[in-house]
Amino acid sequence: MIRLENLGKSFGKFDAVREVSLEVPKGAFLVLVGPSGCGKSTMLRMLAGLETPTSGRIVFGKDTVSDGEKGWTIDPARRNVGLVFQSYALWPHMTVAGNVDWPLKVAGLGKPERRQRTDEVLRLLAIDGLAGRYPNEISGGQQQRVAIARMIAPRPGILLFDEPLSNLDAKLRVEMRTELLRVHRATGATSVYVTHDQVEAMTMASHVAVLNGGRVEQFDPPAGLVADPHTAFVATFVGTPP
Ligand code: ATP
Ligand code: MG
Repeated sequence: MIRLENLGKSFGKFDAVREVSLEVPKGAFLVLVGPSGCGKSTMLRMLAGLETPTSGRIVFGKDTVSDGEKGWTIDPARRNVGLVFQSYALWPHMTVAGNVDWPLKVAGLGKPERRQRTDEVLRLLAIDGLAGRYPNEISGGQQQRVAIARMIAPRPGILLFDEPLSNLDAKLRVEMRTELLRVHRATGATSVYVTHDQVEAMTMASHVAVLNGGRVEQFDPPAGLVADPHTAFVATFVGTPP
């Protein structure tokens, strides 16, 4: 479960995220969607522990992981999250298998366990044939699969995605949506997925938060947004006039 309580983030006098409250159950696929600059990445970075909120709280299951009033946040490494960005940031000097193995090594797992997990996630992402290649020897789409394999290998309970498909061509993007959902279900994790693509939001999400100017305009399952858009902004977003 992920619960946000009046979450806010200011940069000086500018409020990037304002009073966001929402809750999703374990296993949800929450999509944060909205125009450029609406605060999506800032929210994701707070969930990851890369930014400290200036107000409100973030709760994962029974644990408060960030508290804006007290001004503290638990380190990314200690909050059981995995993170994938638009840029894949693979280690260029390591093979595909080496990249996936890296976080497992950092976590202190033994060699047989690491080997088994690496094989398992490479198979799950259908890139087991690429294990010995280097990042510059595989395509952009394959690199993104490696980044996702590397994220899930340590088995985080929460998967965070920031526009992971935006560098891919249109056809591959559609294919990867299905792939990502399959991986999400296979891990049993709760996912938070940032995009500005409304089709991606409406087709992938179990829950959607439509953001505008740092606020949540509406938080609902996709069908709820279509059936009952609360604001003109949301109506335009889902393509149904209010
Ligand atoms: P995009 O779709 O373009 O990635 P976004 O919804 O992810 O946009 P954010 O990156 O969360 O938007 O930024 C939200 C707002 O906060 C923007 O106006 C941005 O300029 C501002 N902002 C983000 N980070 C900082 C920072 N470190 N200092 C000052 N302002 C910031
Ligand atoms: Mg962003």
